[in-house]
Amino acid sequence: MGQSHQDQEFAPNKHGSYGALLFDKRWKDKRSIILTRDLNQCVICGLTDNLQVHHRQYHYLTALKKFKAPWQYSDKTLITLCNSCHQRGHSKFKVPIIKI
Ligand SMILES: [Zn+2]
Ligand SMILES: [Zn+2]
Repeated sequence: MGQSHQDQEFAPNKHGSYGALLFDKRWKDKRSIILTRDLNQCVICGLTDNLQVHHRQYHYLTALKKFKAPWQYSDKTLITLCNSCHQRGHSKFKVPIIKI
């Protein structure tokens, strides 16, 4: 369940193993900053279990021809969601890809 989500979250990157990046210390640090900021609860329903950090947009670096690493996003593009709100969000909305 967690695994399939992670594949979905970072689906824009077709070139590398984005999944492996989720185990990177830089992502873990970033994730914990966002969770703390959001008081360790889903910003939609307030649930405190199965929390995931969601990217509200993906940034494609045209000069480098690749997506940003997950931890390179500013805090305001990241929000804490519980698993069910997260899955629901992804099924309803497509995450916009911003070319920069
Ligand atoms: Zn929720
Ligand atoms: Zn997401």
